[in-house]
Amino acid sequence: MSAPPTGIELAAAHAEAMGAPAPLRRCPLMPTYAAPALQLVRGEGAWLWDRDGHEYLDLLSGLAVTSLGHAHPAVAAALDEQARTLLHVSNLFGTEHAPVVARTLDRLLGTPAWADGWQPGDAPVPEMRGQVFFCNSGAEANECAIKLARRFGGRGRHVVVSALGSFHGRTLATLHATGQPAKHEVFQPLPEGFRHVAWADLDALEAALDPTVAAVLLEPVQGEGGVNPASRGYFEGVRRLCDERGILFMVDEVQTGLGRTGRWFAFQHLGVVPDVVTMAKALGNGVPIGACWARAEVAAVFQPGDHATTYGGQPLATAAARAVLGVMEAEDVPTLAERAGERLAAGLAGIDGVSAVRGLGLLLAAELDGLDARAVVAAAVRRGAILNAVTPSALRLAPSLLISDEEIDAGVERIAAAVADARRSAA
Ligand SMILES: *Cc1c(COP(=O)(O)O)cnc(C)c1O
Repeated sequence: MSAPPTGIELAAAHAEAMGAPAPLRRCPLMPTYAAPALQLVRGEGAWLWDRDGHEYLDLLSGLAVTSLGHAHPAVAAALDEQARTLLHVSNLFGTEHAPVVARTLDRLLGTPAWADGWQPGDAPVPEMRGQVFFCNSGAEANECAIKLARRFGGRGRHVVVSALGSFHGRTLATLHATGQPAKHEVFQPLPEGFRHVAWADLDALEAALDPTVAAVLLEPVQGEGGVNPASRGYFEGVRRLCDERGILFMVDEVQTGLGRTGRWFAFQHLGVVPDVVTMAKALGNGVPIGACWARAEVAAVFQPGDHATTYGGQPLATAAARAVLGVMEAEDVPTLAERAGERLAAGLAGIDGVSAVRGLGLLLAAELDGLDARAVVAAAVRRGAILNAVTPSALRLAPSLLISDEEIDAGVERIAAAVADARRSAA
């Protein structure tokens, strides 16, 4: 007996019966992504299963989202309880979890008071250094940061400078902030007020900082751009230039934040304190939530009515984030990511066909020696491992921060087999 048809197949069959044009007959979803290799139905920890029951080691975590692995019991329990209690009431009302999550984020972002060893239960409770706006995605967190920069800079001082090779989102403004001009062309005209400079080039940045600039927006590790870590010298230089000119230094931690790189936030490797930090991916472990943090004097430029969201900060998403942060702190995920990252990087570097490994913690790229990364990714799926081609020649790995040593070793073994498979078919 064959498996019952999926929703997608039923919808496609319906589209076909209705005489839909060919592209719609293939898929009821807009063709913004290439056809998927797999349909996944279940996950647990670092593992995923497809419709036919095949098992895959997930080394990608839904693009650095499920940092605690799939179906984490503490997150599932929090969602279950919140779903039975209160899902949503709008931001016209206060709710239980959002202020707690905001306080925790402020503490993890690090303040002198918090860093001095304050523990829950100690009194007096230190003041928060910044304030948080909750939203639903990374792009929305950056939209908030961009609006904050414009409000802070005032009329005529609204430009946001970002780096070539960066990624900040797909809304019109965050697309323009994204330093990939080829992606802009078909959507011109894009919102005004964005400027791009060469990555890791302080002189280029300095030359771009005229009096119209309100903020600099950078990733501490360019994720989508190929897993390119910033150097300490670069970030310290950016901080100095921003301080000299009263420009905001905004750091996009949407992919790097919350333990992934071996620190709570990747800027903490780089000797700077930013004015604004955006985050999203790992915050809900798969439940959509984003956040924009700004130090208090910057956040204070927003007045009621300047920015808003229907769903942002709602009880379901913030219950998930509260549970996520609770597990992350209890498990000390930055330390786990640092250790596991060393093991994974060493394993990858030992694979015949990998020429270099770069990244921080458990956000890694393996540069391939003359092989097409997409071919290796496809071979890896057949070997039961999920990763992605972050550039035409490099694999990206962003596994669960709770991944075990045995799982790391199994992953390295499967990737080594996939590289060998791809090499054989290329020969
Ligand atoms: C993924 C990502 C975004 C966009 O997040 P969405 O939730 O897809 O809108 C923004 N910035 C960085 C650095 C990212 O990695």
